[in-house]
Amino acid sequence: MPESIDAKKPTILVSKCLGFCKCRYNGDVLSSAFVEALKPHVNYITACPEVEIGLGVPRNPVRLVSRGGAIELYQPAEDKTYTQQMNRYSESFFDSVGELHGLILKGRSPSCGIKDVKVYSGVEKSSSSQKGVGLFAAHAIARYPNLPIEEEGRLTNYAIREHFLTKLYTVFRFQQVKQSASMKELVRFHSEHKFLLMAYHQTQLRLLGKIVANPEKKPVSEVLDLYEQHLGLAFLRPPTRNNYINTFQHIFGYFSDALSDKEKSFLLDRFQKYREDKVHISAILNVLRSYAIQHNHDYLLNQAIWSAYPEELLDISDSGR
Ligand code: SF4
Repeated sequence: MPESIDAKKPTILVSKCLGFCKCRYNGDVLSSAFVEALKPHVNYITACPEVEIGLGVPRNPVRLVSRGGAIELYQPAEDKTYTQQMNRYSESFFDSVGELHGLILKGRSPSCGIKDVKVYSGVEKSSSSQKGVGLFAAHAIARYPNLPIEEEGRLTNYAIREHFLTKLYTVFRFQQVKQSASMKELVRFHSEHKFLLMAYHQTQLRLLGKIVANPEKKPVSEVLDLYEQHLGLAFLRPPTRNNYINTFQHIFGYFSDALSDKEKSFLLDRFQKYREDKVHISAILNVLRSYAIQHNHDYLLNQAIWSAYPEELLDISDSGR
């Protein structure tokens, strides 16, 4: 764990073999350009669950095996099962790790993989028939239903990375509101995230608005817990293109009366091009933002949708893939 956590940055749990330690079964360390790029912007907490339960480096590989309806962590070369050790370690690790805002785990690992991990149908079997979740990752997913949890391999995809970063920084900003235990801060957060939430999930945006209005005068802590649950639901999946266009149209409504016919038709044409996947979203956001600046519209200028995460992390070089 890091000696000190910088409270101004989100904290991410990352699989230790992703650039931090030669702890893979064969003594290797892997590199992830995304994990590396995030380093100046986040606090990293690292863990290698297999080393922590006493499997050394190098070690004989472990795998997931389905036995009697249960999924076991099994080491074929030693004919040993490590399920209990891994479950015990994971419980105690997550009990003591402190506040997290996101997780980046190594894909396909029987310990860290969050999906599509091979599950062998018996200890003697050399082929897998099902896919499952690594044991350590399963504990993480159960503990943190509202946090972004991704595999390093999937984060090479622009859309997945964009969603991960947006959710990570939104969760981080919300945790700061939660710590303040202030309704005023929650109202400000909700107001500043209105258009981002509109793009992600319009039904949840409405529900979150009702939670903030708090007609039943619930205690702040209850309101914040409820808000957190619904914020998690709002960010469950990436936004659709149609939702984004609907959000652009709402923003456009704030200054459309002040635009010339030519300016309006140019903007509407951009929306259509975005619908057809011929223009990147950042081009539309930049045009809308420039109008918000020109019209000095504070409410719009304070919206998180313009840059939901630090601009230095925006990398659209693979957005066409
Ligand atoms: S995938 Fe997880 S258990 Fe395997 S070496 Fe990396 S950190 Fe350790």
